[in-house]
Amino acid sequence: MFYCKNMLSRLIQKSSKIVPTFIKRKIAFKYIAGEKLRDAIDVSRNLNKIGVCTTIDTLGEFESEPTNYITNRQKSEDALMEISKANLDSNLSVKLTNYGLGVDNNICYSHISHLLRYAEDKNIFIWLDMENSPFTCDTINIYKRIRDNGFLNVGIAFQACLLRTQKDIETLSEYKPIVRLCKGVYKELALKEMNINIAYNSEIEIEKNYIRLMNLLFNLGCYVGIATHHDGLIFESKEIIRKRGLVSGVHYEFQMLNGVKENLRNRLINEGHRVLVYVPYGEKWDGYTSRRMQENPDIAKHVFKVFFYSLFNWKKFLN
Ligand SMILES: Cc1cc2nc3c(=O)[nH]c(=O)nc-3n(C[C@H](O)[C@H](O)[C@H](O)COP(=O)(O)OP(=O)(O)OC[C@H]3O[C@@H](n4cnc5c(N)ncnc54)[C@H](O)[C@@H]3O)c2cc1C
Repeated sequence: MFYCKNMLSRLIQKSSKIVPTFIKRKIAFKYIAGEKLRDAIDVSRNLNKIGVCTTIDTLGEFESEPTNYITNRQKSEDALMEISKANLDSNLSVKLTNYGLGVDNNICYSHISHLLRYAEDKNIFIWLDMENSPFTCDTINIYKRIRDNGFLNVGIAFQACLLRTQKDIETLSEYKPIVRLCKGVYKELALKEMNINIAYNSEIEIEKNYIRLMNLLFNLGCYVGIATHHDGLIFESKEIIRKRGLVSGVHYEFQMLNGVKENLRNRLINEGHRVLVYVPYGEKWDGYTSRRMQENPDIAKHVFKVFFYSLFNWKKFLN
């Protein structure tokens, strides 16, 4: 049984390389706003109209060419400018490896602090995404440096799948960080194959840790972005919110990915919860989609579900 599951995962991972681009494009664009900044702005404007705030992400990661750090920063500044001009209820999400994290952390800090100052002038918030485990320490160190230098318009993502996360949150407690709590998209398969265990092995353990961490964050007085589409976790989160008497937008918000579980999203809004939607855009959607499918077979399963659904509704798919 274990081997069958393993083989299926490998098959799904490998297949991301052979899925034709036009199909990947069709699938990817269910989740990605488009290739241009204006696509992300349009999606954000429409979501704002139904009471949803957004966080815009310029696709790209693992950059090692210094001139590209500058291009990436320019793209993020353009996004901040457009958010401000359109007066959107939106903020920005960034991946620090776009600015040289892990290559030269001083350069990375200089870019991100510049960006934060630019955002501060426009009263816009920036989320630091959490990338895979080789970058966890560096991301946390950059976050500390940002806060030590007085920036407040910044939040950090933490992953419930990692064994280390509780300690990481406790280390930051004095900063009372604004935290996006997610399960974690990177399955750290390479490390697992080397028998190095840094993550919880089962979904149940990850979910238990998620709730444990959420309680820890609320105990520390942190604002929590509850970033999940999992029905059980959302149900338990609402129980915690009710029992603690927490206020939407003051103590917490729900966060979801663009194009995922829109009915659930609408239900949360109707119940009076603040909801933020993550809106990626950019030309690097192919690499992003393929990498996600390779890193995490679960994403591929979601994607394949959409694909087969689309085949049965082929008229809609071709539109
Ligand atoms: C706003 C936001 C920001 C995030 N930022 C980070 C980050 O910085 N670092 C990081 O490692 N991870 C990040 N993630 C990803 C997160 O860690 C999970 O991988 C992802 O949200 C799926 O986990 P889940 O909690 O929704 O539960 P799951 O059990 O994986 O999903 C529950 C259900 O939601 C649906 N679903 C979930 N994901 C998808 C998908 N991609 N496509 C289609 N359907 C889907 C499926 O119906 C699934 O059954 C972020 C997620 C969100 C919502």
